[in-house]
Amino acid sequence: MQIRCYRCGWSFALKKEEITFAVEALEESGGVHYDVRCQRCRHTNKISLEQLRKFAPRVEETEEGEERAEQETNEEEQNT
Ligand SMILES: [Zn+2]
Repeated sequence: MQIRCYRCGWSFALKKEEITFAVEALEESGGVHYDVRCQRCRHTNKISLEQLRKFAPRVEETEEGEERAEQETNEEEQNT
């Protein structure tokens, strides 16, 4: 997720783990903004929970046991 500092215009990336953490923290505390500090000017940018959710990887129950493993077996004939 690309964050753009509205003070100095510096854009930087926010890691997925950080987004996930932020969403969880906000949901727990009931907050609506996550403070992200600009790496350049140290200004605190507020990212809305709504925005974070768009980028946060959704935690859904994954179906297990249906992995397709296609194996192509090519038998090479060696003529001696
Ligand atoms: Zn900045």
